[in-house]
Amino acid sequence: MRSFEDLIRDVQDRNLCHRCGGCVTFCTSINYGALELGEEGYPRYKEKSKCIECGICHMLCPEIDELDAEIKKQAGWSEPSGRIVSTSIDRAADDNIRERATDGGAVTGILLRLLETGRIDGAIVSKHVGLFNREPYLASSREDILSACGSFFDASHGMVLYSEHYSTFSPSVQALSTVKRIGSQKVAFVGTPCQIVTLRKMQALGVVPSDAIYCLLGLFCSGNFAFDDNSRKRLEKIGDFKWSDVRKISIKGRMYVYLNNGSIHTLPLDEIDFIKRPACRYCEDYTAEFADLSFGGIGAEEGWTTVLTRTQLGMDILNNAERSVLESYGQHQPPRDQEQERVINRIRELKRQIRHLKYSDKMSGLTESRDPAYMNLARELEELEEKHTGGPVHQAGLDPSAGVVQTLTRVMQKSMEKRSQCRENRAELLGEHEQA
Ligand SMILES: Cc1cc2nc3c(=O)[nH]c(=O)nc-3n(C[C@H](O)[C@H](O)[C@H](O)COP(=O)(O)OP(=O)(O)OC[C@H]3O[C@@H](n4cnc5c(N)ncnc54)[C@H](O)[C@@H]3O)c2cc1C
Ligand code: SF4
Ligand code: SF4
Ligand code: SF4
Repeated sequence: MRSFEDLIRDVQDRNLCHRCGGCVTFCTSINYGALELGEEGYPRYKEKSKCIECGICHMLCPEIDELDAEIKKQAGWSEPSGRIVSTSIDRAADDNIRERATDGGAVTGILLRLLETGRIDGAIVSKHVGLFNREPYLASSREDILSACGSFFDASHGMVLYSEHYSTFSPSVQALSTVKRIGSQKVAFVGTPCQIVTLRKMQALGVVPSDAIYCLLGLFCSGNFAFDDNSRKRLEKIGDFKWSDVRKISIKGRMYVYLNNGSIHTLPLDEIDFIKRPACRYCEDYTAEFADLSFGGIGAEEGWTTVLTRTQLGMDILNNAERSVLESYGQHQPPRDQEQERVINRIRELKRQIRHLKYSDKMSGLTESRDPAYMNLARELEELEEKHTGGPVHQAGLDPSAGVVQTLTRVMQKSMEKRSQCRENRAELLGEHEQA
């Protein structure tokens, strides 16, 4: 069985650690103090003798491929962007959300709808704590969710600007320890692709509190940034500004620096590559390929969010939100073949029969588990659902008249670019390690 020792060798020593905190948060012996996060967010042993060598931390890590085949199978994953059931472009109908949002406020609109309808008790989101840093937390009210909206790095939110280390990465997985501590809740999780992978692995292993996660909402991600005072000075030179004049920062395709005097300075991303977190250079997932729903700004008009639906749950959530709190300007669903259509119809029918049986069993005092008719239906349903969600779904056969085809093409191109760049970087890195 592997242990944290192996994680240090396979991930940290190769500079591949994302600092997601998953290994620490879900360590089997965390309550006994086996692991902790160091000052810079890297996991380390707190007390090595407390480690029971269960190997969970190793299996959960997004950089370890042991469970990759399993989660890919479960998600019906395929290149270039994972399983996509439909693509749409949405925005929150509420102006108040849109004004604060990063793009169209689709994420916030959906979270609020889930909360209002009682489908979740809270959501793991991230709020600003200074120009760059973000802090994850469990939001359990409308106000809490709204205060995390947007991706502007705004100086007015409190100043940790003059501390030595800055990072745009929010260690959201760690906020799940709150869920674990306060007991079972139903929560939505908003995070980057690497975090979504950690949570899918956690679900595959059934690690607590995976049963409390209602849905996974993933953000497209080209990278996060981390830097120190020296890099900050270098950024001042490249962008020709002074940090003391900065009002807010936004990173989207370029870095935008908004000054107090109203002017905006822009820095191309390739010029600020030196502040990209090392692990982000080797990460292939651009669109949060294992989420229920994925969100990005690419391919959508200003003020709208591109939304990829990947699972049946994601579809239910989006359909509900589009009927109530979201506006949508296009939806594209790849055509289903006859077999998929048959499976979907049969699933609907089985669910209807099961509902009916449960009701009549309740009336006659029978428990579901003792009723053979129920057992047969439930077994068939499970098999079909596995077949339906596990099978590949068309990504070809796009309807050229659909308004979102170009968006989807753009998303897929960007996914392919990121994947091939990262594979090159990884091959280079592994080559360097073999030589060393
Ligand atoms: C680091 C990063 C890089 C990104 N790169 C791209 C990109 O290259 N291309 C692209 O199209 N889109 C990218 N996105 C996604 C994009 O910026 C928007 O988050 C997305 O379009 C959703 O917009 P929205 O208006 O619907 O979300 P909103 O309604 O504004 O909600 C945003 C949600 O994201 C959460 N959040 C914000 N920052 C973080 C963070 N660092 N970690 C975890 N959660 C966070 C907030 O808590 C909030 O709940 C990136 C996002 C992040 C965080
Ligand atoms: S107890 Fe298990 S999860 Fe915790 S450090 Fe040891 S091997 Fe990893
Ligand atoms: S689980 Fe996350 S924090 Fe732990 S080693 Fe892997 S990437 Fe780093
Ligand atoms: S680029 Fe990859 S590793 Fe870096 S934050 Fe985004 S998803 Fe995580």
